[in-house]
Amino acid sequence: MTFDYDPQNIFARILRGEIPNKTVFESEHALAFHDIHPQAPVHVLVIPRGSYVSLDHFARDATPAEQVGFFAAVAEVCRIVNVGDGFRAIANSREHGRQEVPHFHLHILGGTQLGIMLPR
Ligand code: AMP
Repeated sequence: MTFDYDPQNIFARILRGEIPNKTVFESEHALAFHDIHPQAPVHVLVIPRGSYVSLDHFARDATPAEQVGFFAAVAEVCRIVNVGDGFRAIANSREHGRQEVPHFHLHILGGTQLGIMLPR
């Protein structure tokens, strides 16, 4: 599998500071910000700073430091937005996953009782 990264995607532009974002947390390896169209009271996106298209790309090619740094950011976000009652993490990937932005991101959704995982 080859992963072609588009450096003009909107999250790449956010990482370069070309587009503003509502930052929740940032570190050497990751940035977390509020989704512009929240689908739950808590809806934060966590993205790595590296150029990875999707979860499977990140899991295969990111360095151990990038992977540890990313998940440390996820832990910080969960603490900051206070999802102690539970949350859902979603990584839409490519066409069947209906991924819209081709830079790996994890949606952190919570703050309410969420619906079923997938519509039937
Ligand atoms: P996905 O379908 O998993 O690729 O989701 C992309 C998400 O990015 C959607 O939930 C959008 O609302 C969100 N999004 C798109 N542009 C921005 C932006 N400029 N700032 C914050 N979130 C955004």
